[in-house]
Amino acid sequence: MAGVDFVDVRKSFGAFPVIKGVDIGIEDGEFVILVGPSGCGKSTLLRMLAGLENITAGEIRIGGRVVNALPPKERDIAMVFQNYALYPHMTVADNMAFSLMLGGAAKAEIDKRVNAAAGILGLSKLLDRYPRQLSGGQRQRVAMGRAIVRDPQVFLFDEPLSNLDAKLRVAMRSEIKELHQRLKTTTVYVTHDQIEAMTMADKIVVMHDGIVEQIGAPLELYDRPANLFVAGFIGSPAMNMIHGRLDPDAPGRFLANDGTALPVASPPAAARGRDLVYGLRPEYMTLADDGLPAEVVIIEPTGYETQMIVRLGGTDVTCIFRERVNVRPGEVVRLSIDAGHVHLFDVETGRRLF
Ligand code: ATP
Repeated sequence: MAGVDFVDVRKSFGAFPVIKGVDIGIEDGEFVILVGPSGCGKSTLLRMLAGLENITAGEIRIGGRVVNALPPKERDIAMVFQNYALYPHMTVADNMAFSLMLGGAAKAEIDKRVNAAAGILGLSKLLDRYPRQLSGGQRQRVAMGRAIVRDPQVFLFDEPLSNLDAKLRVAMRSEIKELHQRLKTTTVYVTHDQIEAMTMADKIVVMHDGIVEQIGAPLELYDRPANLFVAGFIGSPAMNMIHGRLDPDAPGRFLANDGTALPVASPPAAARGRDLVYGLRPEYMTLADDGLPAEVVIIEPTGYETQMIVRLGGTDVTCIFRERVNVRPGEVVRLSIDAGHVHLFDVETGRRLF
């Protein structure tokens, strides 16, 4: 096993820069997820780590060793692709054994490793089948089995769950996480799905337009997003964002652009006189008789909780309540805001001030 470091890594396709100076440190045994919207460069970064794409500038290290010039097969990594890339004319066992056979391993050793991986992944009874005789989830497991048998220093996953239906995706999420807890192999995993990132990662790298916006543990990013991009990307439903400024006469109050006064705990002096975004997650509002009036736009009970969109501060604001709420669109509810969980962002820089 080994850690991975990206040091000021850059990549251009022709004159077009797609990775613009990325630094990421991944510790031995860590499960790190690169997440970000389509086109932000996460697959390119993974492909550079795998050796499938060359590096325009900077350094990539695996286990402390610079691998910039090493061909893929000398990097001791195994990659699981989105489309699984299974050989259709080979059985499950042969698919899993293939890279070991190419490497010249002895038959007994290959069988041992394939059987062990099949046991871990619940594939023992399917070893003689062909890929076309498997479900999507089983194919996904074979693709992982192929990576496991090689016992690499690092696993790379490129959107491995995107071809599965929603239910299977949730099940496979737990399987991959369990697998990591068991094998503890350093893992770098790419997805555009922030829920996948939140639920599986030890550490998330949020990317946007070829740069790293923030690196941190899932709940760190959720509770202390560095800027508006991360605040809007992490969390579902997304953080509510209301534009306005601090009240010059009462700095403990935020005045939305429509004049609504909203509570803030103790904003820093740097926030005064600036155009701000008031950031409030949907779960930090409760219904209270002395709360702020807000008109209900949509109400969506899920059974477990009630999600509601209301009009507040000139903005459509999403709230989530643990209780069942008996109101209709057009009615007015009263909301109490947990001021201790309010964030303020500077509109000009996008940075979180508070
Ligand atoms: P997605 O989630 O859609 O796969 P991504 O974040 O993985 O997106 P990349 O595939 O890394 O993004 O692409 C980053 C940028 O690089 C995109 O603008 C893409 O168009 C560009 N790009 C990727 N590969 C090439 C290539 N071979 N030639 C030119 N441009 C490329």
